[in-house]
Amino acid sequence: MKYTANPDRYKHMQYNRSGKSGLLLPAISLGLWHNFGNDVPHQTKVDICTTAFDLGITHFDLANNYGPPPGSAEKAFGRILREEFAGLRDELIISSKSGYLMWDGPYGEWGSRKNMIASCDQSLKRLGVDYVDVFYSHRFDPETPLEETMLALDQLVRAGKALYVGVSSYNAARTREAHQLLKALGTPFVIHQPSYSMLNRWVETDGLLDALEETGIGSIVFSPLAQGMLTNKYLQEIPQGSRASQGKSLSTSFLSEENLSRVKDLNQLAEERGQTLAQMAIAWVLRDKRVTSALIGASKPQQVIDCVGALDRLDFSEQELAAINRYALD
Ligand code: NDP
Repeated sequence: MKYTANPDRYKHMQYNRSGKSGLLLPAISLGLWHNFGNDVPHQTKVDICTTAFDLGITHFDLANNYGPPPGSAEKAFGRILREEFAGLRDELIISSKSGYLMWDGPYGEWGSRKNMIASCDQSLKRLGVDYVDVFYSHRFDPETPLEETMLALDQLVRAGKALYVGVSSYNAARTREAHQLLKALGTPFVIHQPSYSMLNRWVETDGLLDALEETGIGSIVFSPLAQGMLTNKYLQEIPQGSRASQGKSLSTSFLSEENLSRVKDLNQLAEERGQTLAQMAIAWVLRDKRVTSALIGASKPQQVIDCVGALDRLDFSEQELAAINRYALD
């Protein structure tokens, strides 16, 4: 059946400005790292994306290597753009990245100009679009001069292949350096993509959030649910089909008794707030105004619906924040 977008899709979602830029992002964005490879039926991907869009999630985050195999998530999303989201391109923010291994030989990864330009061209083809809204350097390359990586991002903007650029997982010092370089070039560096959750607070201790505030750059934080740990799914057992059960990026060693005991306490607190743990985990990253968007993943449409429910209760009392600090890792 042909998809028709929900006419009320903009009524519930909150849109936040990315730093001091003109770019507004939904408070919750959807990432296609897992569950969009050839190992998942296409209809599931369609259902997840259309459910998200119907709830006001306008931003879909990809990278060259998302799959498996690498590239297949962009191809699947390209098909959704042609079939379900036809005519909706101007309502969507699509991002992609380059930096992790994508093809054989010395140019298939990292941050050389050679890699970045070729990789972006490949992503545009797989997605079937003329430009992406945001293109990222996926990881800092210690061997390539930062100036070269930033010049490649600048060139992508000037060639009309990306509207905005960002960096992912760069620490505070490198982010400041990238900002200086891109500011001098006049490139719209508007967003940083770091990991952040109640179980992973490096952006606070490293000073990254302070650096972003000072430089006027927004942030979209990935894995706010710690890949599913900060939900109620692992409290009793490791469910069949879950990320941990598939030996993917979430190692069962992370589900240690100590971590699970923290998660149980956090789950109790979420229940007292009248939320699911996933909702509280998202509300918690969004409590910091330097966080523009929480970048979630989902294996089922119902998970997206649950996550968007976070917006119904975003405030925290001082006592709740103190309790979370006791259970959360830093
Ligand atoms: P999350 O921390 O949101 O974990 C997503 C997983 O949590 C889902 O696959 C699902 O697990 C589970 N889940 C989600 N919602 C619920 C719910 N309501 N109830 C119960 N379980 C739920 O994020 P990801 O780790 O998936 O990362 C999100 C995105 O961030 C990626 O798709 C990618 O775009 C980006 N990213 C970027 C990186 C970078 O280097 N820049 C690195 C990693 C991610 P299950 O599948 O088991 O059902």
